[in-house]
Amino acid sequence: MTIEKKDITCPTCKKTNTWTAENKFKPFCSERCKLIDLGEWASESYKVAGEKTDPNVAQDNKDSEE
Ligand SMILES: [Zn+2]
Repeated sequence: MTIEKKDITCPTCKKTNTWTAENKFKPFCSERCKLIDLGEWASESYKVAGEKTDPNVAQDNKDSEE
């Protein structure tokens, strides 16, 4: 059987890498890059969720000031 090899560009570090079927981190070059990408995605949604709380807090502060 032929071993499948592909050239990929890691979405995180933009490095060109060659991965084999053994690489379970595809399309990332390594586990680290995969976790970084997942972390950015998670923090992004976390930020959106946090913004819902922020205006309330800001409004509360403004209200007591006025
Ligand atoms: Zn990478």
